[in-house]
Amino acid sequence: MSTHRPVVAVYPGSFDPVTRGHEDVARRTLRVCDRLVVAVAESSSHSKSHLFSVPERLEIMTEVFARERRIECVSFTGLLVDFAARVGARFIVRGLRAVADFEYEFQMAQMNRELRGDVETLFLVPDLGYSFLSASLVREVASLGGDVSSFVSAPVLERLQRRFS
Ligand code: ADP
Repeated sequence: MSTHRPVVAVYPGSFDPVTRGHEDVARRTLRVCDRLVVAVAESSSHSKSHLFSVPERLEIMTEVFARERRIECVSFTGLLVDFAARVGARFIVRGLRAVADFEYEFQMAQMNRELRGDVETLFLVPDLGYSFLSASLVREVASLGGDVSSFVSAPVLERLQRRFS
């Protein structure tokens, strides 16, 4: 039998909070890797107003992915490609929703390749039902008292209810 080096992937994002769209992308990634590191970026260049702190987001994600033994949730600072190399990742996974995601994602993938040519970027498309879903929309709807129960898992819903009650 040939020796098989485990295929590690990194799924970076802000995950504020993790949505069912993120979950869908993470679970699809497990079909093409052995181990997935879901990584919360501590310093994001496109500064959005955050709802949950990084430790809170990690706590929520760890609960959401508790049954997925091949998924690990961590945070990172600095360049994504350096982090990916540190954890031995063969590729970075990103989700593509509509055309709106494309330009930014394309730029970032090209830049990451310039910075480090040995880490590929893999794009995955979510289930159609999640293709309109974003964490910012979930934050906005939840803050206005709307029902987001079909867009996030129970641990997220619980935190959102606590935050906005
Ligand atoms: P958001 O854009 O929802 O605030 P992040 O910044 O955490 O989320 O995004 C991390 C990655 O997950 C990005 O590649 C983003 O395109 C992808 N992503 C976010 N939501 C979805 C979704 N509903 N379906 C597929 N990919 C998604």
